[in-house]
Amino acid sequence: MKCSKCLEKSIVFRRDSNTHLCESHFVDAFEETVKHTIEDNNMIVEGDRIAVALSGGKDSTALIYVLNKILSKRKNISVFAITIDEGIKGYREDTIKSARNISEKLGIDHIIVSFKERFGLDLDEMIEARREAPCTFCGVFRKSLLNMTAKELGATKVATGHDLDDEAQSIMMNYLKGDIERLGRFAPRRLQPGLIPRVKPLKDIPERETALYCMVHGFYLKMAECPYASLSFRSDVRDMLNYLENNFPGTKKSTISGFSRISNLLADRYPPMRLSSCEQCKEPCVENSCKACQLLGKIDSSRLIASSRSQS
Ligand SMILES: [Zn+2]
Ligand SMILES: [Zn+2]
Repeated sequence: MKCSKCLEKSIVFRRDSNTHLCESHFVDAFEETVKHTIEDNNMIVEGDRIAVALSGGKDSTALIYVLNKILSKRKNISVFAITIDEGIKGYREDTIKSARNISEKLGIDHIIVSFKERFGLDLDEMIEARREAPCTFCGVFRKSLLNMTAKELGATKVATGHDLDDEAQSIMMNYLKGDIERLGRFAPRRLQPGLIPRVKPLKDIPERETALYCMVHGFYLKMAECPYASLSFRSDVRDMLNYLENNFPGTKKSTISGFSRISNLLADRYPPMRLSSCEQCKEPCVENSCKACQLLGKIDSSRLIASSRSQS
């Protein structure tokens, strides 16, 4: 099959626009989409210092590559990378190595911070201590550590690699759980004290295109999935949406566009919460202590119970 724009061989078919694209036209289209997303949503402005959450997987690798390319000519905007090491044996080591490689290749400052250093336990240990869904823990601690680190390093924005598939999944998960309040707060809102604003420049790019973008730039990421991923609700929602998208193309986009139409209505019903700062760690939170500190407290108490049982 030939590219719809030139005579080269096509490497991707975009079903929504009914176009076949060769490698160079795909790269152009990908980068144009990201530029539009950034501009239309006013995601990045002069003077920004952007912390890219770089897991080392395909989404964040594509993100740092494209941001570096788009922003390299803008003198007043800087980009650096933060990698969070959650401590997941047999999985994290490889992704950290990839994160380090891409940062070095692009000449971007790269900081690695770990759950163990900051919270005293890594994810594997947290899960041992408390039988809860690993992704609940991981999400809370990752978010908190990312915000703290970005703040300490003077970032004005945190950019994450969430793509169109992730967005559709998050929206659908909230619908399916009936969590309309959370759904209402999913859209980006006004600035909150102590929280570095998050931006998602890849939110209009389908997951398979982030993988392809990495591949054409020589970052072929043949990586294992997180060993805990299959235990999450998200992974079932992802399979369901992929099935629907296959049979009914456009399902993911319509999930997102439908949400953006109701999110304005929900904004009045669920205004942004007033945040205070956590009594223990000073991170912004809704109650007196943040979710990370609450979970750490629960882990501590269940460890105490476990150790007193083993002594008696
Ligand atoms: Zn072409
Ligand atoms: Zn806290």
